[in-house]
Amino acid sequence: MITNSRLAYQSHDHQRCINAAVSQAEVLCKSRNARLTPIRRDVLKVIWQSHQPLGAYAIAEKLNESTERRILAPTVYRAIEFLTELGLIHRIASLNAYMGCPFPGSEHSDFFMICRKCGGAAECSAEGINSVIADIARRANFQLESQSLEISGLCSQCQEPERQEPEPQEPERQESERQ
Ligand SMILES: [Zn+2]
Ligand SMILES: [Zn+2]
Ligand SMILES: [Zn+2]
Repeated sequence: MITNSRLAYQSHDHQRCINAAVSQAEVLCKSRNARLTPIRRDVLKVIWQSHQPLGAYAIAEKLNESTERRILAPTVYRAIEFLTELGLIHRIASLNAYMGCPFPGSEHSDFFMICRKCGGAAECSAEGINSVIADIARRANFQLESQSLEISGLCSQCQEPERQEPEPQEPERQESERQ
C-alpha cells in the first residue's frame, strides 16, 4: 500500500510538498514529451498550496490573486485537463475539486480519504482493494478502465476533540470478576 496520509494531515513544511510536486512534474513531462508551460506549473503550484482539494473556480481565483494579468478561465481549465491527463493531479468527484497526486508517474489506483472537518484529502493505493475490484469486474465481465474511491471521515487531527468525551464507566461487576 502507498499513501501520503501521514503527511497530508499533519502540520509540516508544505513548501517541500510544492517543490517536490514541481520537480516530479518536470521529470514526468520530460519523459512524456510534454511541456510544463508556466501556466501549467502555476496551476500545479496553486493546487499544491494545501492538501485540501480545490475547485476549478477557486484555482482560477487564486491564480489571479498572484498575477498582474487576468488569466481566463478556459486557460485554467485546459491546464487542469493537461495535469489530470498526465496524472499529476486527480479530480475528486464528490467535491468536484482537484488535488495533487503525491506519487505521479507510478502505476496506482486512486483511493482517497477525505476529512469532512478540515477538508484535507490523502491518497492511497492498496493492492488488496485493487484486486477485489478487479476480481468483481472480472466476474461481471466488466472491462475495468479506471477506479476512483472516495471515503469521507475524520483525519487524525480532527478526531482528537471527539476522543475526549468521557468513556462510559465499566460496570462494577466486571471489576470483581477480574479478581
Ligand atoms: Zn504538504
Ligand atoms: Zn495519484
Ligand atoms: Zn481533518
